This record gives sequence, structure tokens and C-alpha cells, in this order.
Amino acid sequence: MGRGPATRPADTLTACMMAGFDLSMNIESLFPYINAVTKKAEMFENPPYIRFEFDHTLCVLHPDKGFASPFDDNVDARDFMMRLMAFLNDIYYGKERITPKYKLFSQADITLILKLLPRTNCNDCGFTTCMAFAAMLGRQQTIPARCPHISRPVQEKAVFPIMDKDGKLLSTLTLNVDNTKNINDLDSARQYIETLQNKIEQLSGMKKDLRDEANRQLQTPLSQREIDVLQMLALGSTNAEIGLLLYISPHTVKSHINHIFNKLGVNSRTQASVWATQHHFV
Ligand code: SF4
Repeated sequence: MGRGPATRPADTLTACMMAGFDLSMNIESLFPYINAVTKKAEMFENPPYIRFEFDHTLCVLHPDKGFASPFDDNVDARDFMMRLMAFLNDIYYGKERITPKYKLFSQADITLILKLLPRTNCNDCGFTTCMAFAAMLGRQQTIPARCPHISRPVQEKAVFPIMDKDGKLLSTLTLNVDNTKNINDLDSARQYIETLQNKIEQLSGMKKDLRDEANRQLQTPLSQREIDVLQMLALGSTNAEIGLLLYISPHTVKSHINHIFNKLGVNSRTQASVWATQHHFV
């Protein structure tokens, strides 16, 4: 079994109240799983990183390093690192039990971030000017929470892939967020998206119920393996492709297809595909 992520302190624990750390392996593939299980997660690409809340602490993870804040002191920061690494290792070894979430946010540019700051240069964030803070935030070298005066979320656009329960992409919704408007607009937009996602999940569940019912109505129901083969067949896969995807020989695929034909009372791939479509198997 491979080793999960681990940290070593960056050259120093950077700045007061904030810790920087390096990761021993590239953890970009974990981002969709972290995105699924953490609070207030926001995942970005180009460059890839994820921001989320863990243990009442804001974290930003890049593929091979991260930042977290706030902390009282180095001991507090190191204790947190231990908990964070245990958490990342749990995700690393338990990925099969988590449905990944691919919702992405786009990065805000510096001018947009500056619009959200009072520009008083008060230095509460540890940076001498708001511009310096905005530049570092734009490069994800710090986190929004370090400025207690920041007024609104900094993302300007969110892309929401909508998947069914099997992880198949059904559609994509792009939400443009006008940062100059009231935060309530953002909240209501998020609620709208969540409502849509819930509806899709409900529809997906209904589809599965209809599929199960159709299978039960057969004189001899299809086995799970036959359902897998039928779904691929209905999507136009050849026997060789089905064999490759399911790690079975073309001869076994052929045998499954014969059983499927007999159980459905059809005698061609086209008829089997039509039956699969009509009964919500694809
Ligand atoms: S704490 Fe906020 S307002 Fe003050 S200097 Fe930093 S960014 Fe500007």
C-alpha cells in the first residue's frame, strides 16, 4: 500500500497566525474528494488549488504545498498540521467511499479583490498595503480571512458540473457573480443551484427505482454484470471494448449478451438497446 500525504514545515512557519507547509506528494487528485467532504470548499483550476474550512481553520492546498490560518502560535499550528494530515490520509485511503465533487470556481483578479477591500492600509492583515494583500491573495499566497475588513466573497464565477448518482455529467451551470451587489444575491444564487442539484438527485433516484422495477418484472431478472454489459452495449460499445472495460474476455461478453437477449426476449443489439433506453438503464 502506498503512503498518504505528509507534511514537513516550509523553511519557516510563515508569519504570525498563519502556517505554510510543503506536502510530500502531489495531492491534486484528492481535491475533488476534499471538495466533497469539507465545509465552505472552493476548488480552482489553472492553477489548481482548493480552499476549505477544517477544524474551524481556513486552509488552502496546492498540489504540493499549503497554507492555513489562524493560529495562536507554532504549537497550535503544528497540532493542527497533525490533524490535517490525518484527515488527508483518511481521504487518500477512503476515496472509494466518497463521491467526488467537481464544482469549480474561477479566480478573482487583483482589481476585483481590491474592490472588496476598504483600502485603508491598516496593516491588520500583516501586509503593509491593501494592494500587497490583494496581490498575495490573487496568487493564493494568503487567505481572505486575514483581512477582517474584507466585505464580500472574492470569486466572480462558479461552474457547477451536475452529475447523476453514477458520476455521469448531465450538464454544466455557470453562475456569474457580480461582486458589486449585495452578498444576499450570492446566497440566493447558491440556494438556487443547490435546489437544482437536489432535484437532479431526486430524478436520478427515481430513474434507478424505475430501472429496478423493470428488472424485477422480467421473468428472470438481469444480474448486475449483465446490467453493466447491457448499459455499455446500449451506449454503442463493441464486445471487445466491453471486455476491456470490464476485464472479461470477449467470449464471456458474448455469453452475457446471449443471456441478456434471452431474458429480454430480443434477438438483436438494437432491440436490446431500445429496451435499455425505454426502461431507464441508460
Ligand atoms: S487588513 Fe484589510 S484593510 Fe487592512 S491593510 Fe490588510 S487588506 Fe487592507
